[in-house]
Amino acid sequence: MATALTHGTLDESGFGSYTAADYDELLDHPVEIGDFESVEFIAAGVPHHLVVAGRFESDLERVASDLAQICAAQIEFFGKPAPFDRYYFLCLAVGEGYGGLEHRASTSLIFNRDELPKPGEQGQPRDYQRFLALASHEYFHTWHVKRSKPAAFIPYRLDQRNYTRLLWVFEGITSYYQDLLLLRSGVLSVAALLQRFGELFTRVYRMPGRFKQSLAQSSFDAWDILYRPEPNHPNTSISYYTKGALVALALDLTLRADTAGRTSLDDVMRALWQRYGARGIGVPEDGFEQLAAEISGLNLAPFFDAAIRGTEDLPLAELLAKFGITLELRASAGGDDAGGTPRAANGETLALGAGYRSREGGVELTTILEGGSAQRAGLHPGDVLVALDRLRVNERNLRRRLARFESGERVTATAFRGDELLEVGLVLKAAPIDTCYLVQQETIDAETAKRRDAWLKPVATP
Ligand SMILES: [Zn+2]
Repeated sequence: MATALTHGTLDESGFGSYTAADYDELLDHPVEIGDFESVEFIAAGVPHHLVVAGRFESDLERVASDLAQICAAQIEFFGKPAPFDRYYFLCLAVGEGYGGLEHRASTSLIFNRDELPKPGEQGQPRDYQRFLALASHEYFHTWHVKRSKPAAFIPYRLDQRNYTRLLWVFEGITSYYQDLLLLRSGVLSVAALLQRFGELFTRVYRMPGRFKQSLAQSSFDAWDILYRPEPNHPNTSISYYTKGALVALALDLTLRADTAGRTSLDDVMRALWQRYGARGIGVPEDGFEQLAAEISGLNLAPFFDAAIRGTEDLPLAELLAKFGITLELRASAGGDDAGGTPRAANGETLALGAGYRSREGGVELTTILEGGSAQRAGLHPGDVLVALDRLRVNERNLRRRLARFESGERVTATAFRGDELLEVGLVLKAAPIDTCYLVQQETIDAETAKRRDAWLKPVATP
């Protein structure tokens, strides 16, 4: 048995008596009971436990040593001492799954067992970076959302919805730092970080809904939209995680550039922690924006109006250029292309303008993107596309089939809607330029190099 609750004497399997001061504390301490492997490590003087249930094959000592670096960097980031006496990573390794939930002195993580490094494996394989980013994300929450949190969450009302426009502050900024602190703790290279940022940009740029829903609204609507996805979601909404992380990046770069390096988002985060989280005071709805302005001495109203309440894209390319980074855009090279790298498609790619998945006899359209070929042809989510130009299509051959046509060409698409067969004219369009990657510029002036090094320095400063 494993949990972060305060305990008396325990037997060797962890059974004994545990105490919670109140119901709220009890609820906030998940308990792992059953067979698991466990490793203890110390970070900044605090004992941490890595507990993994489920079948897996890995070197947990190695994972623990990477986590120790990440945890130490985060405790340094917010300032010692850590606001907990012990911490538990309660993990479940499964065949398919990815997610975590933060708690005040622990986290529950679920992930694909193959994301853990093989015994003896060197370097940081991409899948393992994903695991480390998840652990880093939930650990950051120990300060930022478990302690610094919207005033609307104090106290949590468990019998009703708790509305706030600040979820971008707590999930978006956390999503930004989860990766940045992997770099600062020394477990991720600059190149790997930029690739992860490129993937983040891509996720946002593939959501036409970012032009319709603001970040403040996305946060407010979380109860009704984010956790109840429906097929039109990408056209009408934006995630406060992904766009929130981009806004955090933009804010960090803006603060650094406009104060000549005097202030960064790090300073705002530490001030937020000291003023609110460490003192148990809730953050008012305008608290974060006011604090950022106060700490930096900048007029940030235009920035926040555009980034949080507006729906236009931020000038990220210009901002990144000030730090010697080029934002590149290209068309997607295929269904498994998450962006982040300059991987090129073979010639011009045409797109259906729809998400799809394999379905017996064809492909089922899952989302229809606004302004895309499928939408213009009147196809709906749920339609099963069975043929293009009267030749059968399936998940394996669809892209190859599309490559036989020219942009602007009209082809016959045959689909089942329920049990009714439809035939529509589909005017094929070039795939949108929505896939991003970031490149470090080679020749930059001394000023730009200084800015970039200060942002992407590999070791955390207290
Ligand atoms: Zn989170």
